[in-house]
Amino acid sequence: MSENGATEGKRMDKKTFLFSKNDFLYCGLSRDEYSRIEPLIMERNMEMIHTVSRMVTLLGFVFLFIDAVTRGSDRLPYLVLAGGGVLFSLMRRFVAGRKDSFALIYCYGLIITVFLYGIVLGVQPAKADDPSTSIVVFLALMPLILNDRPVRMMSVSALFTLVYLSMSYRMKTPSAFQTDLTNTVTFSILGYFLYISISNRNVKEIWYGVQAAESERLKEEKRVAEKANEAKSNFLANMSHEIRTPMNAIVGMNEMILRETRDPKISRYALDIKSAGNTLLSIINDILDLSKIESGKMELMETDYDLSSVLNDVYNMTMPKARDKGLSYKLSVDPLAPSTLRGDEIRVRQVMLNLINNAVKYTHHGGVRVGVSFDRSAGMLCVSVEDTGMGIREEDMKKLYDSFQRLDETKNRNIEGTGLGLNITKRLVELMDGAISVRSEYGKGSAFTAGMTQKIVDDTPIGNFTESLALAQQQREEYHPALVAPKAKLLIVDDNEMNLDVISELLAETKVNVTTALSGAECLDKLREGRYDLVLLDQMMPGLSGTETLHLMRRGRLADNTPVIALTADAIVGAKESYLREGFTDYLSKPIKFEELEAALKKHLPSTLQTTAEEIGREKAEMPVVLVVSEDADKLREAKDALGERYRCVLVRGEAQAEKYLATRDAAFILRDAARENKAGAAT
Ligand code: ADP
Repeated sequence: MSENGATEGKRMDKKTFLFSKNDFLYCGLSRDEYSRIEPLIMERNMEMIHTVSRMVTLLGFVFLFIDAVTRGSDRLPYLVLAGGGVLFSLMRRFVAGRKDSFALIYCYGLIITVFLYGIVLGVQPAKADDPSTSIVVFLALMPLILNDRPVRMMSVSALFTLVYLSMSYRMKTPSAFQTDLTNTVTFSILGYFLYISISNRNVKEIWYGVQAAESERLKEEKRVAEKANEAKSNFLANMSHEIRTPMNAIVGMNEMILRETRDPKISRYALDIKSAGNTLLSIINDILDLSKIESGKMELMETDYDLSSVLNDVYNMTMPKARDKGLSYKLSVDPLAPSTLRGDEIRVRQVMLNLINNAVKYTHHGGVRVGVSFDRSAGMLCVSVEDTGMGIREEDMKKLYDSFQRLDETKNRNIEGTGLGLNITKRLVELMDGAISVRSEYGKGSAFTAGMTQKIVDDTPIGNFTESLALAQQQREEYHPALVAPKAKLLIVDDNEMNLDVISELLAETKVNVTTALSGAECLDKLREGRYDLVLLDQMMPGLSGTETLHLMRRGRLADNTPVIALTADAIVGAKESYLREGFTDYLSKPIKFEELEAALKKHLPSTLQTTAEEIGREKAEMPVVLVVSEDADKLREAKDALGERYRCVLVRGEAQAEKYLATRDAAFILRDAARENKAGAAT
């Protein structure tokens, strides 16, 4: 705003005395700017006119008084001036119906009378040799009196001057006419400049005043908006916490159902809950991201990252969705792209995921092609996502990046979405000094391209990504050791008992020894009593918060080298970094996903406490085999729960399958449903 004001100022100073119509009328302002302040200028002009007219009236009377005293018997000018003024004012008030102040009216009258009387006196044959003074007085006063109507002022001045000069030319001697001519031209110009400078001063003062008031108002508005935005961010952070905490219980308990049930119907219901839960979480995340961006709190967290690992994740998170919809999916990566980059890995991933997920979502036939390359001259990571989907209508293009804006709603009714993804994507890309563009043909498909500025850390070419992806896939499928750590001791701290149950249940199969505490104070007591290998510490608790508890732990030298992982429901504004700064070893956001929890425990529990895959395999291989035969899925599960710890259970549905199994392998025991007959097999 202030910058704007400065430019205006410069513009006006430079053009103050230019003669163009606009400069004359608007004094360097544009017509729009001038019309915004015109009422104020008129008000100011009127005030000035009144002041000047009062002074002129006073001077007029003084002049008349002196004239009357010094001329003695010659009272004609005195009477003409006084009477003419009054007469003119009365005419103006009653005939023209103007309600000006008396001083102003009198002033008009006086000036006109001075002029007319001056003419009368000046053009008398006896005065043929004298130049007139009244025209000069008239020209000098005119701009002051009429400065609210510049055009009229100029016309009146010009008209009267011409009338007078033509009379002077006809009736006066050449030398008197010449003096009259010089006087009128000089005073016309002076009057014009007087008008311009007064006007300019007024306009400038008013314009700057208005600008200052406006900038003050804008500042105030900004302050109010910032406050409102802060309140919104706080509200969202709290809301996110409030929603995520019960979601933790819902998602966690649902995970237990999915693991334990053998009933396909219940599995289907639980899978629906899982998918709805994930959708709800992604909506909450989108809203949080948007509020972060809008409040200007979105900061990029730059780290060095492996491009192939980001692409690997993106592929694993998007390809199954395309496959499930029967779409082809091709990811081509330029083999010359640098292998390690520096930038905000999470946001780069988010941009790619948003574009690819949209492509999959809005495509029903054909497929999706993703291209990744690096433009070294621009320092940009370029991602293109093409689909053969429904496309975007020409007229919808301009609404594409608006928040909460979904397009083609009739067609997309059954596709989940909030209309936030592209808005966030565009803003993220711009935050990374990049740009996003789209080409689309309605009914045929779309192609989105995003470029994000990233620094090169290691320029070694990434090579054939398709091959390394296939290798990674193979390794993933072959080797996925589960966490088993029966000797590890874990302390979980959360004020919500249901959350403690969920986490304990999630960890049941890992055989980790779990102790729980319901508050920061209880956590400190537990740590004083015994040693733990890892602490999961909830952040938002009544009494001591997670961070306060951690500080007390560290200060009291309790569990000095024990990793402490923060559990939080607020996924707002660089949460992870702020927890790490506080001294937490890591961070898990609620609702806690088993894979993330398992990965965190694998990472932070001492490896000596974790049973290796080979050990698990060996232990399993050494267990005696129990063949459980039943038609009832629940019974099979019950048997596995009861025997799973000590036996390797083989569950079969019905006699036919049991026979098939026994034809090639042995079992130490066979457990049949109704008759509890234990039949010794040919154990080896
Ligand atoms: P959402 O997908 O949650 O509705 P987005 O902001 O990601 O929100 O997208 C906004 C709208 O743009 C979508 O509702 C959809 O109509 C349209 N759109 C986005 N990507 C595509 C695409 N690849 N093909 C067709 N339409 C798309």
